[in-house]
Amino acid sequence: MTGDSREAFSFAAARTAGVYTLVRRREDGRVDHAGTSGNDHALCGITGIDVYRQPFDPNVRNVCPECREEAARTPPEPVVSIQERLHEMLEPAEGPLRDELRRLLRAGAHVGPWTGGHAQTLAEGVVFDRIIEGADAIRKALAAAASIELIRVKGGGRNFLVVVPRGGSPAVAVQRPDPDQSPETRDEA
Ligand SMILES: [Zn+2]
Repeated sequence: MTGDSREAFSFAAARTAGVYTLVRRREDGRVDHAGTSGNDHALCGITGIDVYRQPFDPNVRNVCPECREEAARTPPEPVVSIQERLHEMLEPAEGPLRDELRRLLRAGAHVGPWTGGHAQTLAEGVVFDRIIEGADAIRKALAAAASIELIRVKGGGRNFLVVVPRGGSPAVAVQRPDPDQSPETRDEA
């Protein structure tokens, strides 16, 4: 609808190959196992693991044979783009702003900064005077949980603010651009 030349963007094209994460037994760190960062066990089933910030490499000498086999049999999930992730998160939200934003995300809108943490702390960074549409929803979402995610999106010539309360429904607002911020966050993607 905005007619800018972004048709090339698609969720499918923006996906990248996933990897398993290196995990090791806390008791005995000599063997490399494969895991996923959100999980408390390796593919072979062992628990009591530490998760490393490195991909699992099935070709090292000290690899767990079961994890190697299982990783080969079930390749890891592809990594979705930040746009697709937010699009998913907005699924339970409601209203025309949510629909507008989801449409822009499908066209590759610029997402970021994306921060998570305590609602009270992050709420301090929300300037309600700048919000043009959706202020009430944002207020409600900020009060809905102790922990939230705060996401800014630029697309279709508008500045969006998204608040996702943990376990709750996300809220979408539109705000005027931040006057103290130089227009550095132009889309470099
Ligand atoms: Zn293993």
